[in-house]
Amino acid sequence: MDSIILYKSRWIYPVSSPPIEGGVVALSQGRIHAVGKEKEVRSHFNGKLRDCGDGVILPALINAHTHLELSALRGQITPGLGFVEWVKALLALKEALSIEFLIQEMKWALEELLMSGTGAVGDWVSSIQSIFLSPPQGLIKRNFYEVLGFLDEELNLPDILNEKNPIHPSGWIFLGAHAPHSTSSSLLRKSKNWTRERVLPLSIHVAESIEEEQFLLSGNGLWREFLIHRGKWNSQWSPPGKTPVEYLDSLNLLDERTLCVHLTRAGKKDIDILRERRVHTVVCPRSNQFITRSLPDLPYMTQIGLTPAIGTDSLASNQDLNLWGELEMIHRSFPEIDPVIILRMATWCGAVALDLQDELGEIVPGKKSSLFFLPLGEVSVKDLPLAIINSNGIGLEWI
Ligand SMILES: [Zn+2]
Repeated sequence: MDSIILYKSRWIYPVSSPPIEGGVVALSQGRIHAVGKEKEVRSHFNGKLRDCGDGVILPALINAHTHLELSALRGQITPGLGFVEWVKALLALKEALSIEFLIQEMKWALEELLMSGTGAVGDWVSSIQSIFLSPPQGLIKRNFYEVLGFLDEELNLPDILNEKNPIHPSGWIFLGAHAPHSTSSSLLRKSKNWTRERVLPLSIHVAESIEEEQFLLSGNGLWREFLIHRGKWNSQWSPPGKTPVEYLDSLNLLDERTLCVHLTRAGKKDIDILRERRVHTVVCPRSNQFITRSLPDLPYMTQIGLTPAIGTDSLASNQDLNLWGELEMIHRSFPEIDPVIILRMATWCGAVALDLQDELGEIVPGKKSSLFFLPLGEVSVKDLPLAIINSNGIGLEWI
């Protein structure tokens, strides 16, 4: 086969299978052709050999949830405000900025993602300009168009989303219905119907804050006051008296094409419902710490097999878009979770969450050659997954 290049490294970690010592991965025309022990791969493929040296070749990381439109807000909001005060601070800052400025900062953010080893990003967008912003080569951007409105509103989508086959060079366009406490039940249902008809994922922020939970259980609290203050209160509305997860389940919103983000307040019963409905999930630990000083019950989620993808969320609630920071926090906060699972969350689970499982997430023949080399010192197979997490991605190079 023409133009095959063989990349060799002390370790190759396909993620979906154990690490290969002295492995080689054969790449050609942007695809993986083979992976295995050097002797075995070279007996089938003749190509130029590049020895990357001591370290590991890994599949690209996947940042499954962010809002790049908020990148201009980096460092401008005080951590620990709580959800409602954080929303107020965010809106005040964002509403004072022009779309042109926001787009310029998004371009920097896209470069930052790529430099930290991210090969795909799930980005919530609220403007046509953001949809049309092309990512740099090597980074796939999946757009979730944001639907938001507590008053009973129509699903008003830009024309590009209403085309029969909404494929665009900058990536597929999915929907993101904001949250159960910020978006009316009818708008939530309309969003789900729209994505069901097109067999596309619907993402939604769920169980992020105590204010959301209080509001859905009782109809009271800081969120109700916020809606009244914003002129968005619906006097016909009555609280469902359910947790956010139970409420979405009662609306028939939860299925294998629903992507639930955060789940900071989700209890074991909620998590059981999500698993039963086969939903996909994303956690954003540093953002949760920033806004609400709390974390989701990841040990229980991973224990019952509801293994989430990972997102950084936006620069309005995180210091950077570097997924390695999330890996470090997950390991530090939950040392009982096997580092093998944490690495799967950052790669394979992200690919599944963004409907990219046929392209990314693991090193197997046929997938995209979206791989990087990470230099590491002497490390045993047993210690390799934790050494990868502890490296913080320093020195990684795309191959
Ligand atoms: Zn978000």
